[in-house]
Amino acid sequence: MDRVYKKIIMHMPIAYAKYKMIYDEEGQPYDSIIIDSNAAYAKLLHTKPEALTGKSFAETMQRSIRHSGSANDYEKIMASQGPLRFTRHHDEQNKHYQVTAFSDSENTFVTLIEDISEHIINTLKLIDANTSLIENNRKLYKDSVTDSLTRFYNHSYIRQVLREEIDLADYKNLALSIAMIDIDHFKKINDSYGHQTGDHVLSMLSDLIRTHTRRSDHIGRYGGEEFLLILPNSDSFQATLIVDRLRSAIENHRFDIDDNHLSLTVSCGIATYCGQALHQFIDEADKHLYTAKRMGRNQCICDRSV
Ligand code: GH3
Ligand code: MG
Ligand code: MG
Repeated sequence: MDRVYKKIIMHMPIAYAKYKMIYDEEGQPYDSIIIDSNAAYAKLLHTKPEALTGKSFAETMQRSIRHSGSANDYEKIMASQGPLRFTRHHDEQNKHYQVTAFSDSENTFVTLIEDISEHIINTLKLIDANTSLIENNRKLYKDSVTDSLTRFYNHSYIRQVLREEIDLADYKNLALSIAMIDIDHFKKINDSYGHQTGDHVLSMLSDLIRTHTRRSDHIGRYGGEEFLLILPNSDSFQATLIVDRLRSAIENHRFDIDDNHLSLTVSCGIATYCGQALHQFIDEADKHLYTAKRMGRNQCICDRSV
């Protein structure tokens, strides 16, 4: 080999060794002997290159990279057309190596071993950092569309959800209903028990609404004490059943806050989608909500009698 190349190979940071296969009487390879190696290879095996020449593969590897495989593994290399590349983990050193091996003649093969531990550690750190970044972004996004007191969607996001549900209903010809739900005389609760208790009631009511709606329904805090409930796949009849069951559950619930046992009612306006624009759809639910208020509160009004 050219002396210049020989020098480069001797001092390159990647470990290099050339092996000669040893065959048994039946012509089966059972081991291999090092015929050339560089300083990095010797360093890997805690010795000097001249001490390695003539040593068998099994003998040298047992001393160091135990998981580099047996001579049998190298049969594959001898049989392969091009270089084979695989990674090995050295348990005792906790190091990761990338091994490239190829046969350069009928009975010799070359193995190149690169310490990629730092690269693996950095990659793992990068994956960790990316995972927490994705997690943080998801949390930030969720917070940005969620009302903090009720944990329901905020006003603008529930309108966006409704826009998407309208598109889906149009596209798939599905039923879609909404309900505008407003607490009756909520001002009185604030006036009698204070704003903080009012907040507590709002939060407890949200949990109650959550348990009496389906997973597929979407809920938003549309205003202070007003909620927009989106009921996909629900016609006027189904929506009224669900919303009135919710209204009744709220009426029968006791909100225990400190020594107070509060009760409240809600009024609901239900509208069913039939091709109208989003603002008209919401206006209809609103209109029915105010009819419910006018008719004495604690009731559901929908756009057709059920
Ligand atoms: P109605 O039956 O006509 O809906 O009567 P109401 O008292 O519920 O309605 P009104 O619009 O007169 O008052 C709404 C009240 O809701 C007044 C407001 O202080 C209260 N409110 C709105 N948002 C919040 C909130 O985040 N926390 C608390 N504690 N109160 C709120
Ligand atoms: Mg109200
Ligand atoms: Mg209101």
